[in-house]
Amino acid sequence: MAKRKKTKTKRKLAHPKLPMQGQLNLRDEGTHFNLRLIFDDLNQRYFRGRLRGYKVMWGRRRKHRPREYFIFGTIQEEDRVIRINPALDQAFVPPWFLRYVVYHEMLHSVVPEEALPEGRRRVHTEEFNRREREYPSYRRARRWEEENLSRFLR
Ligand SMILES: [Zn+2]
Repeated sequence: MAKRKKTKTKRKLAHPKLPMQGQLNLRDEGTHFNLRLIFDDLNQRYFRGRLRGYKVMWGRRRKHRPREYFIFGTIQEEDRVIRINPALDQAFVPPWFLRYVVYHEMLHSVVPEEALPEGRRRVHTEEFNRREREYPSYRRARRWEEENLSRFLR
């Protein structure tokens, strides 16, 4: 009995009952989607399992929707962290759209960026764009993005 109680406490500590914000922070399992499952599947399907040691997590939840532009995801190569905007963890977001967003970030890890004058860099190179277009749901995803972007902005 005592042991049981201890286990329960431990679990509580691992998953504290906090407001949504705290619960979803830096975790791969959202309410509607599990990023780890998506990442692993894409990694096998399109990258031959080449992406190793990556963390994929929901980013920080914002109080307000942004006004101007919406960042679907980011990748931090040095730490091998892919962050996906938690606003995508909603029922109206099609799974194939979220998968495309994760795919886009993963593609950054295998397509090198190009150096531009004055120390600037281009990450969406021709090679990147070409490979992105090869993604089966690419057109559908871009169309959905255009048609639904306003739902993510103020
Ligand atoms: Zn990008």
